[in-house]
Amino acid sequence: MTVRFENLQKTFQSADGEVHALADVSFDVDAGSFVSIVGPSGCGKSTLLNILAGLETPTGGRVLLDGIPVDGTTDRIGYMPQKDQLVPWRTIWGNVTIGLEIQKKKNPSELQRIQELLQRYGLSDFKKSLPSQLSGGMRQRCALIRTLATDPGLLLLDEPFSALDYQTRLTVSDDIHSIIRHEGKTALLVTHDISEAISMSDRVVVLSARPGRVRSIHDLTELRGLSPMERRDHPLFHRYFNEIWKELDLVGS
Ligand code: ADP
Ligand code: MG
Repeated sequence: MTVRFENLQKTFQSADGEVHALADVSFDVDAGSFVSIVGPSGCGKSTLLNILAGLETPTGGRVLLDGIPVDGTTDRIGYMPQKDQLVPWRTIWGNVTIGLEIQKKKNPSELQRIQELLQRYGLSDFKKSLPSQLSGGMRQRCALIRTLATDPGLLLLDEPFSALDYQTRLTVSDDIHSIIRHEGKTALLVTHDISEAISMSDRVVVLSARPGRVRSIHDLTELRGLSPMERRDHPLFHRYFNEIWKELDLVGS
């Protein structure tokens, strides 16, 4: 799926007055690509994803999904939230099949596909376990499989690793990256972690402090085809890091 943000603006009205969250944001996401959005906290990153997911309406501009303006929510988009939000009293199988249950699509071929995802990504022995019996990394993989279960063309990931400790985050971002690649999804990752953005994506969009606008776009062509772990060892990693670091308005992040 392709995404196009066209002069997107968002102003919230609140009791204390107006909050200008997004000033004027335009960029494209190519089909099958992995794009990260970095920017200081409060610059409108989550708002951008919420507008794309049809959960908020923009006050100016528009978002096109495969060329068609977004108008409400769609099951073609899978949203992976910050905390894994697994239901604690449901088994892993109960959790990963929730989406199909809600969409009333719990038929044998769909369930077989979920079974294969669990198998492929090392969770099929834990189908009957509860989320509390899994490690942080396994829970995150489970949350991704739940998001993939309804077969969305586009994945939105909003700071999905921030609850994990540093070591786990490295392993999990490697896993999640290879799963998304293997499943051929278009992905949009929001993060304030520059290393995470460089290690996972084809392109990094840097937003300014609030109200968010596009400050720069970096195509990481030289790193294409490498895993997050391999990229972190690549000599160009630090060059990109320093470039983006200098551009980020770090006040308040
Ligand atoms: P980020 O994800 O980059 O940290 P957000 O998109 O969550 O930033 O928020 C951008 C700005 O908009 C913040 O100042 C936030 O307080 C404000 N904001 C977000 N949602 C609302 C809302 N529903 N009502 C009023 N202000 C909001
Ligand atoms: Mg946010």
